[in-house]
Amino acid sequence: MARYIGPVCRLCRREDQKLFLKGDRCFSEKCAYDRRQYPPGQHGQGRRRRPSDYGHQLREKQKVKRMYGLLEKQFRGYYFKAARMKGITGENLLSLLERRLDNVAVRCGFASSHAEARQLVRHGHFTVNGQRVNIPSYLVREGDELLVREKSRKIAKINESLAKLDRSPLPQWIEIDRDNYKAKIKNVPQRSDVAADIDEQLIVELYSK
Ligand code: SF4
Repeated sequence: MARYIGPVCRLCRREDQKLFLKGDRCFSEKCAYDRRQYPPGQHGQGRRRRPSDYGHQLREKQKVKRMYGLLEKQFRGYYFKAARMKGITGENLLSLLERRLDNVAVRCGFASSHAEARQLVRHGHFTVNGQRVNIPSYLVREGDELLVREKSRKIAKINESLAKLDRSPLPQWIEIDRDNYKAKIKNVPQRSDVAADIDEQLIVELYSK
């Protein structure tokens, strides 16, 4: 599938917020957003213009899409799936995004960024309920058990990420057994489980036009 392969720190500077796309670097003094808090590009150092309502909605959508490392078509697909579900569309959307296997791997501390998690999943380093799963968009369900495969437990990236697990707030909807490279989904994530600063209603307004 197509992927954005340009410089990712630009994306944080564009969204005027840290999106944590580069793992360890995001927590270091090398973070490009901390050093240059203005939009990328030739005219970036000029004044940020006040966005229109549409601009607000678009930026919010772009931000969330980039946080989870998705492209437009896929993100839009999640929106329409969320709209068809019972309940509040914006909350359903965030819940679906959180349930992606690559995101769960990040939340469990098996990977330090979504890009890294996606690669680990693609390379088949995880099992879900005993079955090898290599699809990053796989949606976990309540009761699912995610495990790093025996052979993959030596991978330095996984161990380094696990060692830094406490750096971010631990998810309440996942039971993490760090010593056994295991995680269990206690319940489907709710809106309150999404720690990031997101106004999902703006995304709903954008797509409902
Ligand atoms: Fe964003 Fe991380 Fe780059 Fe900082 S280091 S600008 S948080 S991707």
